[in-house]
Amino acid sequence: MTTNDTIPFVDLVGQYHRYREELNAAIQHTLENAAFIGGPALSRFEGGFAELCGTKHAVGVGNGTDAIELALRGLGIGPGDEVITAVNTFIATAEAIVHAGAKPVFVDVDEATALMRPEAVEAALTSRTRAIIPVHLYGQLVEMAPIMEIAKAKNLAVIEDAAQAHAAEENGTRAGAFANAACFSFYPGKNLGAYGDAGAMVTNDDRLADWVRRFANHGRADKFGHEMAGRNSRMDGLQAAILEVKLRHLLTWSDERRARAKRYDELLKGVSGVTLPKVRSEGAHVFHLYVIRVSKDRDDLRAFLADRNIQSGIHYPISLHLLPAFKDLGYEPGAFPVAERLAQEIVSLPMSPELTEAQQDRVADAVRAFVGGAS
Ligand SMILES: *Cc1c(COP(=O)(O)O)cnc(C)c1O
Repeated sequence: MTTNDTIPFVDLVGQYHRYREELNAAIQHTLENAAFIGGPALSRFEGGFAELCGTKHAVGVGNGTDAIELALRGLGIGPGDEVITAVNTFIATAEAIVHAGAKPVFVDVDEATALMRPEAVEAALTSRTRAIIPVHLYGQLVEMAPIMEIAKAKNLAVIEDAAQAHAAEENGTRAGAFANAACFSFYPGKNLGAYGDAGAMVTNDDRLADWVRRFANHGRADKFGHEMAGRNSRMDGLQAAILEVKLRHLLTWSDERRARAKRYDELLKGVSGVTLPKVRSEGAHVFHLYVIRVSKDRDDLRAFLADRNIQSGIHYPISLHLLPAFKDLGYEPGAFPVAERLAQEIVSLPMSPELTEAQQDRVADAVRAFVGGAS
């Protein structure tokens, strides 16, 4: 019997085996050409990724967090400036703001989608606001039009945190192409994942692309012509070669993720005390995560799943304003009631293109059994 095998939260091993030949060939090619830093695979990947996003430039960097920090710096945002972002994101968004020298200003989110609300952004504006970072959380696009309108009226920069939303699309525009710049992570578990750390910034702004590319490469104009004290945050050639292979499959994976989300919806519809994810519009969600809400005993549900060898996650268990890392910002518990409530009630179920129907049935049966009071 295999019915009690562990159901992984993200099946990276399964994905490797599915594309093994292609991936091994790309890795071997990199080794045989010693194309470890820079090189043709990186240029090809950057070109392909920019094309996917519908932007003029993609600049490969070391990771998604650096992509955000460098975009902010490249746009001239730093000490004395405030940057508005969602309070329920991964810490990286806020860390990048801090490391650019600016101050994160958090806003609460929409209860149904867990995404940034334009009204909250409006209410958080001050004379020091310089930028807004909407986060396309769980793989779903923030409704960008009203955010861009606020930015235009107040002359603010907008940087999309698209780390979870590769190829999410609304009205013909993909994640990355709505704002001044957008930042992606290729952390292994993301929808497009490397075999190590990697990230990219995409933009239509020639000057910004050029600045980030130089800053991330020791401030180089040429080999020894360092124009500024930059840093080393490059995407390496091996990751680029791996990502080049995976990029060819990304749109298939998005479809597979959406199909699995739809199937979870059907299996879990009507289960009492369980709220299913709200999708704003079909293509706008690429289901990096499938996040349900349970009205009570969330931690008991996770333990119940774990007992049945089903992995799960919480994204994220602590609202950023309550983390010790940001206590100096001076926010109190209760400042962001929606995000704080969501943090208590959300559970991310296993999700990846490799998730099988049998695995989904087991997950759904376990959720139903828990709610029904089985032990
Ligand atoms: C993963 C992630 C990042 C950071 O990416 P790294 O590549 O891990 O630095 C930033 N923002 C969000 C929302 C993320 O999920």
